[in-house]
Amino acid sequence: MYKISIVGTGYVGLTTGIGLANFGSNVLCLDVEPAKIDKLNQGNLPIYEPGMEELLRENVKCGRLNFSTNIENGIKWADIIFIAVGTPQGENGEADLEAVYTVAKNIGGNINGYKIIVTKSTVPVGTNEEIKRIISANCPNSYEFDIVSNPEFLREGRAVYDFLHPDRVVVGTDNSRPIEAMRKIYRPLYLNEVPFIFTDLKTAELIKYSSNCFLAMKVAFINEMARICDKVGANVQVLAEAVGKDGRIGSKFLHPSPGYGGSCFPKDTEALVAFGKRAGMPLAIIEATIESNKKHKQYIFEKIKEHFDNLKGIKIGILGLAFKSETDDIRDSAAIVIINELLKSGAVIKVYDPRAMEKAKLIWKDSVTYGSDEYDTITGVDGMVILTEWNQFRNLNLEKIKSFMKGNVFFDFRNIYKPDEVEAQGFVYIGIGR
Ligand code: NAD
Repeated sequence: MYKISIVGTGYVGLTTGIGLANFGSNVLCLDVEPAKIDKLNQGNLPIYEPGMEELLRENVKCGRLNFSTNIENGIKWADIIFIAVGTPQGENGEADLEAVYTVAKNIGGNINGYKIIVTKSTVPVGTNEEIKRIISANCPNSYEFDIVSNPEFLREGRAVYDFLHPDRVVVGTDNSRPIEAMRKIYRPLYLNEVPFIFTDLKTAELIKYSSNCFLAMKVAFINEMARICDKVGANVQVLAEAVGKDGRIGSKFLHPSPGYGGSCFPKDTEALVAFGKRAGMPLAIIEATIESNKKHKQYIFEKIKEHFDNLKGIKIGILGLAFKSETDDIRDSAAIVIINELLKSGAVIKVYDPRAMEKAKLIWKDSVTYGSDEYDTITGVDGMVILTEWNQFRNLNLEKIKSFMKGNVFFDFRNIYKPDEVEAQGFVYIGIGR
């Protein structure tokens, strides 16, 4: 059984730790945030992910999963060390690799025998080479080690499911020595015939960015189609269904929305564009994707503004802040741009999200008020706005909503309602592209 340390216990590190423990390895999750580790040691999750709590408890109970802030000891203890720290957007859109390189330095200073270093964080081409250089430069005893690029493709909100049932596992290396260990730690997937793609470090690094940029492009594309549908009076729902039936295109990721957000698409598109420029290879499609998505968030705000003409003093209830349902993550959520624009225009905002309220309070503090549920949030408002497609917003009691609201405008920016059913209750219905 391998001893695996995961450095960085966020969405990816924690999911990876729990998943690999569940596959049979002995796992130690490490982080610099003591509050996070304390919480985990008490059996509580620092994030919301469906199905994660049960799996956490099971693996802790059978002794395969532990948590610590002692990163140095964790490095010494492990055979395999995963790097799963954040790579946020840095200067000029480039990935900020400070945390990754700090971990590499720490590994170099504490390595005490042969180890495999696996990068899970999303990092630009060449980063794994640099990690290798930093470890060697900081390692006084020149122990041997191998570097593996093993990018993660999980979706927040389905992180556990995706880790246990991935579409593929990518393993990038510059020599064959660590491959057997990688096969062993992912053995249940290997036995289940999940495709494993073995490649070099650079290709593995670029696969992750290509996947995210392609998906971001698909979202931006259907949102552009929604805008043109609005303009000419066509229906984007029917359009998406018909276009998606083409097997070459596929129906996934063809859902109009207030614009993509979250902790990955915005920063990864920016990072690949910045990397392309630096490499002397500008990436026009991805640049256009970023611009289109920015425009779309603004367009959604304009739709609200257009309806009221003057937003000063207009009361708006916002349902949904997370960048998508089933997560409490509001990093780069479209809600941030839209709410901030509404506030700038003098609107009075009350917000509600089933999971993201704590994080919302850190952003908006007392510039908005916070509802206790969907009905409390829309009480007395002139207009209500759905921004996240949480299940509990899909089946609202429209009669009750109508009687609680002061006005009658129903903005559905996830197109989850049938316009005629909403209008039948006396609302003015405004969706996207329909
Ligand atoms: P996160 O911010 O949720 O977690 C990162 C963790 O690393 C934090 O808990 C932080 O305290 C810790 N950390 C920072 N510096 C550290 C250090 N020096 N030593 C130990 N711990 C340290 O980030 P995330 O969403 O889990 O993303 C991690 C990486 O995975 C990023 O590169 C991201 O692009 C990539 N990724 C994310 C997702 C996703 O959906 N969130 C999916 C695939 C890939």
